[in-house]
Amino acid sequence: MDNFPGGSTMPETETDFAEPEVPAKPLPVAELHLHIEGTLQPELIFALAERNGIALPYSSLDELREKYEFTDLQSFLDLYYANMAVLRTEQDFADMTRAYLERAAAAGVRHAEIMMDPQAHVSRGIPLEACVQGVASVLATSEEDYGISTMLIAAFLRDLPEDSALEVLDQLLAMNAPIGAIGLDSAEVGNPPSKFERLYGKAREAGLRLTAHAGEEGPASYIIEALDVLGVERIDHGIRCMDDPDLVERLVDARIPLTVCPLSNVRLRAVDTLADHPLPAMLAAGLNVSVNSDDPAYFGGYVDDNFAQLTAVFDLSDFDKARLAANSIHSSFASEERKAELLAELNGREVSD
Ligand SMILES: [Zn+2]
Repeated sequence: MDNFPGGSTMPETETDFAEPEVPAKPLPVAELHLHIEGTLQPELIFALAERNGIALPYSSLDELREKYEFTDLQSFLDLYYANMAVLRTEQDFADMTRAYLERAAAAGVRHAEIMMDPQAHVSRGIPLEACVQGVASVLATSEEDYGISTMLIAAFLRDLPEDSALEVLDQLLAMNAPIGAIGLDSAEVGNPPSKFERLYGKAREAGLRLTAHAGEEGPASYIIEALDVLGVERIDHGIRCMDDPDLVERLVDARIPLTVCPLSNVRLRAVDTLADHPLPAMLAAGLNVSVNSDDPAYFGGYVDDNFAQLTAVFDLSDFDKARLAANSIHSSFASEERKAELLAELNGREVSD
C-alpha cells in the first residue's frame, strides 16, 4: 500500500472494489397474462409423463427443447396442446401450479391472475373437477405459501364453437368453481371476439370479470370488438392497437389495460426482434401497459426475464419500470385493499414505526 502516500486516504480504485455486487431485488408486480399450461417446463413434462406412464415422442429434454422454435402462433399452439397430454390428475395440475408460483415469487410477482384452458383438458377426457381443483387447491393458500394473492381465470378457446365454451361455462358455474373472470385465447385470426357475445353476456350476468386476447396477431378491429361487443375491461396483448391512432386515443382516455408480453411476441414472430417491439412507443403514447410472461416455459422467460431483456434492449429507466409495475397493480382485479398494499410496497412507503 506504500504506493498511496497520504496514509488514510483511500485510493479511488479501492472505492470501486468496495462496491457490493448485490443483485437488484425485483419490483413487486402483478402478473395478469399467464396461462398455467404454458408454465409446463420440459423437466416437469418428463416427470409427469413418467409418473403417468405416458410415452413422449421425444427421447430427451434436448430433443424437446429443440421444438421450441416457432414460426407463428399456430406452430406454438400445436406443441402447447401436445404437451398437455402429460396432465392427467388433480395432483399433476397442482404440481404445475406450485412450480409456477415458486418461480413467480422469485420474479417479484405479488399478485397473479392465472388463466387455464378447461376445454383443452375436458376434450382429452380429463374431468373438469380434476383440472379446476388441482389448480384452485394450490391458489387457495398461495398468499400464505408464496406471498402471492391470486385469481383463477377460465379461458376459452376461440377456435372452437361458442356452444362448446357456453357448455363449459355452465358446468363451471354449476360446480361453483372458484373462478373470478373469463378470458379468450388460442388461434386469433379468423376467430373475432364477436363470435363470443353470448358467452361474455352470461359471464357478466354471473358477476365474473371480463378479459380477452385481442390484437396479438389479429387486427386492431378485434380490440374494438372485444371492448364494444364483449364489454371486456382489459385486453390481453393489444399491441396491434398501434396500427389505429383513433383506437390508441380511446384506450389512453379510458385507461384500458393492455397486458403486453414482449418475449412471447418475439418468439411467435408478432415482432421480428425485441428491439422492434412497440412497448416503448406504447408507453410514450400514454397507454396503460404492463409486462407479462404469457407462456413462460415456451417463450424464454418469466416476468423478471421480460424486464431484464427490455431493460437491456431499450435502456428502460427506473421510472419506466416502476410505471409498468404500478400499471400492473392498478390493472388487476385484486381488491382495492390489496392494490393499496402492493402500491405501498412498490413505492417503499411502508410505515416502519
Ligand atoms: Zn396469452
